[in-house]
Amino acid sequence: MAGGALLQVKDLRKYYRVTTGLMRRLSGEIRAVDGVSLSINSGEVLGLVGESGCGKSTLGKTILRLEEPTSGQINFNGIDVVSLHRRDLRELRGKMQIVFQDPDSSLDPRMTVGGSIEEALVVHGISDPAELEERVARLMQKVGLEAGFGERYPHEFSGGQKQRIGIARALAMDPQLVIADEPVSALDVSVQAQILNLMMDIRDRDGLAYLFVSHDLSVVKYLSDRVAVMYLGKIVELADKEEFFRNPLHPYTEALLSAIATLRPGGSNRILLTGDVPSPLNPPAGCSFHTRCHRVMPVCPQMAPELTQTAPGHYVSCHLYA
Ligand code: ADP
Repeated sequence: MAGGALLQVKDLRKYYRVTTGLMRRLSGEIRAVDGVSLSINSGEVLGLVGESGCGKSTLGKTILRLEEPTSGQINFNGIDVVSLHRRDLRELRGKMQIVFQDPDSSLDPRMTVGGSIEEALVVHGISDPAELEERVARLMQKVGLEAGFGERYPHEFSGGQKQRIGIARALAMDPQLVIADEPVSALDVSVQAQILNLMMDIRDRDGLAYLFVSHDLSVVKYLSDRVAVMYLGKIVELADKEEFFRNPLHPYTEALLSAIATLRPGGSNRILLTGDVPSPLNPPAGCSFHTRCHRVMPVCPQMAPELTQTAPGHYVSCHLYA
């Protein structure tokens, strides 16, 4: 991975301050992202899974500096993202983009969809009317929308079509990396596969890399090259897709996988994940998963395990493998 990485994240943290009273005294910190290191190569899809509240969205937004990092390093194509001046972020965001779960969040209801896509180009300094028209038409074609649809307003479109427009906006400046934050979770199941296929076609054609955030392991299995599992702000397992599904090691990964296995006929032995993810304001001591772990040992509440390599490219943070 070293050298050829498009994105390299080292020990990234994003803590939200919690204040109380009129004087807004600091009463605690929400450790939404708590020391994440990962890398993504050009054209690679890294799937990021974990239950709701594990910090996946915050990680994606912090990498793009839509949220300011508390500490850590982010290197994107040789650019030191953390120390980048605010005025230079626009250029970065042309090359590293985000697609959100809710397509409405990136569309202005009062603007035609053609206008919305055009706006994404104008923001990045394209002003020639002929070039704008040509690029909007090309982007719409790329995401499978008829050029004539450009005159319509968002409310005239279905959820899947709106997500296509969101993707077109994200692709405006030919990005190298797209952070896709649950891009199909809000869509009807019948439409999800179409949007996933579209994203993969674009990847194959343009050599795009994705950080693909999803709580749904079957989606991640379909499209990832590698998979990372996040729990309470930390990566707890990371491996190539084949290795990940053949030889899952972390008890949290086992539990997530057993939940999808039992959805199939004949599936059994479900490992139950009881309760919710604990609050990142006050995470459990030691290994933060120990309170829900089916393989908990005496050491687990005492000491946090390190992320260690157990096989080439396979990393896990669990005392079982230390
Ligand atoms: P996920 O994407 O895995 O569902 P999030 O990144 O949305 O998780 O959230 C991780 C944790 O950070 C949650 O406990 C959430 O409540 C908290 N959090 C997210 N955004 C903020 C914020 N702006 N202020 C305070 N806490 C936040």
